[in-house]
Amino acid sequence: LRGGRWDRRVAETMIDVRKGIGMTSARTRDRLVQRLRDQGIRNEAVLEQIRNVPRHLFMDEALASRAYEDTALPIGLGQTISQPYVVARMTEALLDGFEGETVLEVGTGCGYQTAVLAPLVKKIYTIERIPELLRRAKQRLRQLDIYNVQFKPGDGWEGWAKYGPYDGIIVTAAPDHVPEKLLEQLAPGGRLIIPVGPQGVQDLVKITNCDDHNEQVSLGAVSFVPLVKGSTE
Ligand code: SAH
Repeated sequence: LRGGRWDRRVAETMIDVRKGIGMTSARTRDRLVQRLRDQGIRNEAVLEQIRNVPRHLFMDEALASRAYEDTALPIGLGQTISQPYVVARMTEALLDGFEGETVLEVGTGCGYQTAVLAPLVKKIYTIERIPELLRRAKQRLRQLDIYNVQFKPGDGWEGWAKYGPYDGIIVTAAPDHVPEKLLEQLAPGGRLIIPVGPQGVQDLVKITNCDDHNEQVSLGAVSFVPLVKGSTE
């Protein structure tokens, strides 16, 4: 893993110190990884990240005992932490044949997806519309020694033109159509992973910026909170 500063042993020691071993034991994490394997996740680097990233640190202590279940959970402010399978699937799709360096992420939320992806790419630019969530995500990633992420409070519908175009864009909230600005900020050969559609019936799609057209493939049904228009600032 490029840039991963903590290996599995270090991560586990850290967790042991912070929370006690029971709920975050190696066996609990192995079980989650095995489940994702059974569901078709093949990228070993991604699976290793799912094993390494202490998901329970991204949620309230009251729910932490469920952190290694393969399910989305509430994180407050009306938002959720994504299901590990969906995080793995999106990360795998983003990285398949990826030769680039920069990724734009829309919908930082608690920062779990960011933490899974960060050691696998050179640089992530991430946007979140709720400043308080962004603040907490930033703090957590620092605690985990992840430094290749730049954060911005704002509206993901606008993208982040300043550092574009991006080799990859990953969106973890669902718009009703693909935002034009995100397509504009996709580098030649770049890929956009995005759930599209109304709540409950979204299609996860991968759009690749080929020379003179965009190629789109469907990766299956997902369920995300909506990509809301406008920032809260
Ligand atoms: N990536 C997170 C899950 C994100 S949930 C994880 O790993 O668990 C979706 C997030 O998108 C929420 O935090 C929500 O506030 C944010 N969001 C919704 N609309 C947005 C917009 N227009 N711009 C930026 N973020 C947005």
